[in-house]
Amino acid sequence: MKKIAVLNQKGGVGKTTTVANTAAALAQAGLRVMAIDLDPQSHLTISFGLNPETIEAGSYRVLCQDSDIESQLARVRENLWLMPANINLVGAESELVSVVGRETILRDGLASVEDKFDYLILDCAPSLGLLTLNALAAVDEILIPLQPHFLALQGFGKLLQTVQLVNQRINPKLRVRGVLLCMFDSRASLPNEVKADIEQFLQSARGTKQAWSQAEIIPVHIRRNIKLAEAPSYGKTIFEYEPNCHGAEDYRAVAEYIRGKSFNDETPPEPTQAENNHSEAQHNQKW
Ligand code: ATP
Ligand code: MG
Repeated sequence: MKKIAVLNQKGGVGKTTTVANTAAALAQAGLRVMAIDLDPQSHLTISFGLNPETIEAGSYRVLCQDSDIESQLARVRENLWLMPANINLVGAESELVSVVGRETILRDGLASVEDKFDYLILDCAPSLGLLTLNALAAVDEILIPLQPHFLALQGFGKLLQTVQLVNQRINPKLRVRGVLLCMFDSRASLPNEVKADIEQFLQSARGTKQAWSQAEIIPVHIRRNIKLAEAPSYGKTIFEYEPNCHGAEDYRAVAEYIRGKSFNDETPPEPTQAENNHSEAQHNQKW
């Protein structure tokens, strides 16, 4: 299972939109995908059409070590399972404050589902607290969505510093895969200036031991597209809401990019129908 966290502690940059639609595109391509909502705002959960107020299960119970991961998964689409969030997650940070090894609870839990999915895509809250540390400890790659406007890079250094610390102390595999430019308008000059700044910054890390030394600006940019903002309010992915719009086109391309080029250079195995049927039946039993 390839594990990717979509992370930026800045709010409203396109994290949840990216997780929902990339996960959906990968699942539509026949891959088995697990998405995790690690944000108390529960926007990913809502994006897939679930109501966090009526959900008992989810990532909170896993983090409190009250349950294994598999029993907390909801099958939300064909080939796509979600570990939802609810408002209880707000309390997780303080409840876990005295628990030894609290940064690696999610990673430990994921070991039992490692072979059941091709991809894990994790949506983080806009913070660098314990929930995000759990995400960083658990994944192989980080994707940083960024809205290329004034102050876009403010906080970027702090984000990378946190990644570096986790890389050194908890998760030596952790790498920044790339920066995904979201809500991009190529006609304006500022986005292109911000893009050039990031490019220069990433270039300067080439050949170093930094966790982002191989990172690049992902060649697909997500164009600003109102359909992407409308879809979640209907509990729909962009492929269900408006499959031919720019947003759908762009996120399909992001999924292709993720599939085609991975750090380990391994093409994920296409699932057999038998595997699909087996895991669907299992998860349907639980929900
Ligand atoms: P938070 O930090 O609060 O979790 P986020 O980083 O997850 O936010 P999103 O919720 O994905 O960001 O996006 C913020 C807002 O911008 C949402 O209303 C979303 O629908 C909208 N949005 C995201 N991407 C696009 C786009 N490409 N074009 C237009 N609107 C977009
Ligand atoms: Mg979000």
